[in-house]
Amino acid sequence: MSALTDLLEFQKETEALAAIAGRLEWDQETMMPPGAAEQRGEEQAAIQGILHARRTDPRIADWLSAADGTEMSAPQAAMLRHIRRDYDKTQKVPAKLAAEIARVTSVAQGTWAAARAADDFQAFLPSLERVVALRQEEGQALADGGDPYDALLDNYEAEMTAARLDAMFGEMRPRLTALRERVLEKPEPKGLTGTFRDDKQMELARALAATFGYDFNRGRLDRSVHPFSSGGGSDARITTRTSPDDPFNCLYSTIHEVGHACYEQGIDPEYLFTPLGQGVSMGVHESQSRIYENQIGRSRAFTGWLFDQMTAAFGDIGVADAEGFYHAVNRVQKAFIRTESDELQYNLHIMLRFDLERAMVSGDLKPADLEAAWNDRFKADFGYDVPRASLGCLQDVHWSVGLFGYFPTYSLGNVYAGCLNAAMRKAVPDLDAHLAKGDTAPATTWLHDNVQRHGGLYRPAEVIEKACGTAPTAAPLLDYIEAKFTELYDL
Ligand code: ZN
Repeated sequence: MSALTDLLEFQKETEALAAIAGRLEWDQETMMPPGAAEQRGEEQAAIQGILHARRTDPRIADWLSAADGTEMSAPQAAMLRHIRRDYDKTQKVPAKLAAEIARVTSVAQGTWAAARAADDFQAFLPSLERVVALRQEEGQALADGGDPYDALLDNYEAEMTAARLDAMFGEMRPRLTALRERVLEKPEPKGLTGTFRDDKQMELARALAATFGYDFNRGRLDRSVHPFSSGGGSDARITTRTSPDDPFNCLYSTIHEVGHACYEQGIDPEYLFTPLGQGVSMGVHESQSRIYENQIGRSRAFTGWLFDQMTAAFGDIGVADAEGFYHAVNRVQKAFIRTESDELQYNLHIMLRFDLERAMVSGDLKPADLEAAWNDRFKADFGYDVPRASLGCLQDVHWSVGLFGYFPTYSLGNVYAGCLNAAMRKAVPDLDAHLAKGDTAPATTWLHDNVQRHGGLYRPAEVIEKACGTAPTAAPLLDYIEAKFTELYDL
């Protein structure tokens, strides 16, 4: 057997074990009996220990150097690029530091949840200080003298840099703040009212998932506190939740997660159990969920069809016609919570977090000053005051679990979705005629052929560039948002 075959065989088993660990997590959020938490902790620790040992196995270095110069296919070369990259990272971070990060973040999550419930930033501060210090140390270890924040960002979005994001966001922020100001001067459109039975919401969610091409033979839809997608290949699962007054919460979360899961289901089956067998980055993953949810799911054409499904399921929903429904779906409101934000304001929430976390990692912002810095920035971008920490800097779980460098991938996903939407609309000029009949196939097929099937074959920005014919920029997203909301709000 050649070194290349040995390495890929070893990797295959690691990928299979990682899939099992992922399914344990899915089970924990959906099916696990509450009394099993401690036992599950032991089970997870056992499998994570095995995974860690495999990912740091010194034989990987030997196989990699022996495989150097071997003749190989483009997918094999891409597989080796991923393996080398991941292995190099494990070598740079001392085992003691990795273990300390795991220990501290698992405790910090609980501290954060309690502090958020009590609206008490000071109660979370000692944990935050510890997590920031550990990530700074990790960033320095990974960066080899470069920017530690870039090194952390690279864990979620390979080869992206903070400087490039900064330039992109710098273009977006003034245009979005100006637009939101004009929109919020206008009267607020009517929202939905009515009775939205739980079982009917789930039934419609299932129907919508199928409408977007989600394959229930290779996936399933369950409930969880926070919607998520999990797994890949022939077992890509999604979850959603229902809220009695707000059916959009269930339906649009479902469409979002379907975007993630269709990406996973759409990857070339040849890549299963290789490093190419999953979405290539957080940003590209989010581009799929966002384009399904927003550019397709919140379009006038598609909501026209959805209005009929809604009234069939729930009767009177408080808006008279498809046009009123389109306005309700895209309503812009003064609010504080990122996850509930509309398309227009969402990226402002992200840029705020990006700038603050970057300043914390560089040391320019002390965690003790986070709450004040958050509230000042929120006032500057949104125009009103944050009344309490649970609506401000304590709203997201990310920093407590050590996710630094993750937030910007949400906006990057929106930027990529903007680019893909422009290219897709050009390639499928009569798309709206299909969407108006609830037929998403021309869109999902285009996305499958141009993005999803490649998995990890290309680099993140390369996938988007190949699909669109030009390097990704923020311009198509900004043009789309401005055109949509200018028309919607009659500006
Ligand atoms: Zn997502």
